[in-house]
Amino acid sequence: MQKLEMIYEGKAKRVYATEDPKLLIVDYKDDATAFNGEKRGTIVGKGVINNQMSNRLMRRLEQAGVPTHFVEELSERETLVRRVEIVPLEVIVRNRSAGSFSKRYGVEEGRVFDAPTIEFSYKNDALGDPLINSSHVIALGLAAPEELELIRRYAFRVNEVLSALWASRGITLVDFKLEFGRLADGTIVLADEISPDTCRLWDSATGKKLDKDRFRRDLGGVEDAYAEVMRRLCEHDE
Ligand code: UDP
Repeated sequence: MQKLEMIYEGKAKRVYATEDPKLLIVDYKDDATAFNGEKRGTIVGKGVINNQMSNRLMRRLEQAGVPTHFVEELSERETLVRRVEIVPLEVIVRNRSAGSFSKRYGVEEGRVFDAPTIEFSYKNDALGDPLINSSHVIALGLAAPEELELIRRYAFRVNEVLSALWASRGITLVDFKLEFGRLADGTIVLADEISPDTCRLWDSATGKKLDKDRFRRDLGGVEDAYAEVMRRLCEHDE
């Protein structure tokens, strides 16, 4: 499958059309941004890791009954995916307090929740991706009630599968962001990526942050942390 014209360039990926209107090619970059694009940088090798990690996790999720856009890994940085219309929501699941949640509610980072939480942000750069509730999502027609219910169910299922997977590698899944899309027939599938850019991953033994917070907070060792997470994922695999 060949890349045709670029149809979208995001912060971390480029998306290309193919000769099949139902399929796209995603090409992962090493560019990193944070705080709605205010902080910019490069994480050398990130594109390769995020591509391969996301594909591996999506295959696992498919096996666990969560449909995804993943089709085939084409190269180190490129993947063939099903074309979707993205539902303009960031779907965030949390097991422990961190980041914006800690700030908003004045809860120390790392507090384990009595039950996992879910929240939605409206994907809109101009507005800074504001928090949005499910009633607002329906009112604005961003997703139908049945779609939102399915998204919620899939998101918690992703949390069960990935929390167990990472725990078996000595890593705590603190929180993560998902995006969903609609295929041409309206089927909801998991899209975008799952990587240290979109998850908080802490070493279970030491609490060391092994994710994009190292970049956001200038903690150093960013490349090493991404490589470490990838190494642990691949360690005792297929
Ligand atoms: N996240 C993301 N993209 C965003 C915002 C958040 O991938 O635009 C991820 C983030 O890496 C973390 C989770 O979603 O794993 C929750 O992030 P939070 O709401 O705490 O925001 P942050 O503190 O990252 O601004």
